[in-house]
Amino acid sequence: MNTQSSQHQSIYQQGLEDPRWKQLRLKVIERDGNQCRICGQRTELQVHHRQYHKDKATGVWSYPWEYHPYFLITVCDSCHAKGHQLFSIPIKEI
Ligand SMILES: [Zn+2]
Ligand SMILES: [Zn+2]
Repeated sequence: MNTQSSQHQSIYQQGLEDPRWKQLRLKVIERDGNQCRICGQRTELQVHHRQYHKDKATGVWSYPWEYHPYFLITVCDSCHAKGHQLFSIPIKEI
């Protein structure tokens, strides 16, 4: 793992404990009808980021709650894990 992605991972992990993320997460799950958008399961829901954003000028990663809900999708635990195995998440410089 390179330095850049481990730095991002720690920002991301800490961010997931933040009340601002918890609030946004609930909003996204509600928007998606309280179910996994892939298989329709209603338990063990998580919210996945479809892109990761990084500031072009400063190199600073966005916190999990700074994303527009457009970039977020509700998935269940197992679809989420499968998705991460199959696809790497695109990084967008903003
Ligand atoms: Zn699912
Ligand atoms: Zn994810």
